[in-house]
Amino acid sequence: MRIGILGGTFDPIHHGHLFIAEDARARLGLDCVLITPNGVPPHKKPYSVSPAEHRLRMVELAVGRSSTLIADDSEVRHAGPSYTVETLRALRRREPGSDFWFITGMDAVAEIASWREPDEVLRLCHMVAVSRPGHSAADFERAVPASLRDRIELLPTPEIGISSTDIRARVAAGLPIRYLTPDAVVEYIHHHSLYRGA
Ligand code: ATP
Ligand code: MG
Repeated sequence: MRIGILGGTFDPIHHGHLFIAEDARARLGLDCVLITPNGVPPHKKPYSVSPAEHRLRMVELAVGRSSTLIADDSEVRHAGPSYTVETLRALRRREPGSDFWFITGMDAVAEIASWREPDEVLRLCHMVAVSRPGHSAADFERAVPASLRDRIELLPTPEIGISSTDIRARVAAGLPIRYLTPDAVVEYIHHHSLYRGA
C-alpha cells in the first residue's frame, strides 16, 4: 500500500487540509491519506488547544464516508506529545510492507530541523511539502539545511488562504465560517460552543 499521512493539530480541520490531502493522494497515486490529529502538540502550548476528542471528531465529520481520506486516532490515543518519528515507527509496525508519504504545508516543513530525529523521519517516509500562502519555497530553502531539504519533495498546489487560527478568530468575532470547512464541522463547532472566547 502507498499511504499518505497528514498530521496536524486540526483545531479545527478545514478545506485547506482536505484539499491538500486529496490533491496529494491523486497526484502521488496513494491508496489513502490518514488524517492524524496529534495528542499534545509538541510545538504548541497544550492549554490553548482544544481537547483531542473534539479535534478528532471534527476530522471524522469532515472525511465522512470517504474511503480514501481516513480519520486516524493513533496519536490521540497515546498519552503525551506526538512526535512524527514515533508515529511513523508505529505505522510501519502496523503496516509492514507499505510505503509512507508524509504531507506537510510549506510553513510546517520549514521547521523540520527542530523536529525530533529529522534524519530518521526522512528515512522512514517520503516527505512532501505543498504550497501555502505566505510561505515561499525561498523561505523554505533559507530555513532548512540542504542535507534535509534535498530529501523533501516540493509539490506545488493551488494556494488556499484558510487557516485554523483564522477560523477560531472568526468564530470568536461572530463572523461566518461556512465554506471554509465542511458544514458538519461548522455545526459541531457551534453545537459545542468551541472557540467562542478564542
Ligand atoms: P493553526 O493556524 O492552528 O496552526 P493550520 O491551519 O496551520 O492551524 P494545522 O493543523 O497546523 O492547521 O496544519 C496541519 C498541516 O496542514 C500542516 O502541515 C500545515 O502546513 C498544513 N496546512 C494547513 N492549512 C493549509 C493550507 N491552507 N494550505 C496548505 N497547507 C496547509
Ligand atoms: Mg499550523
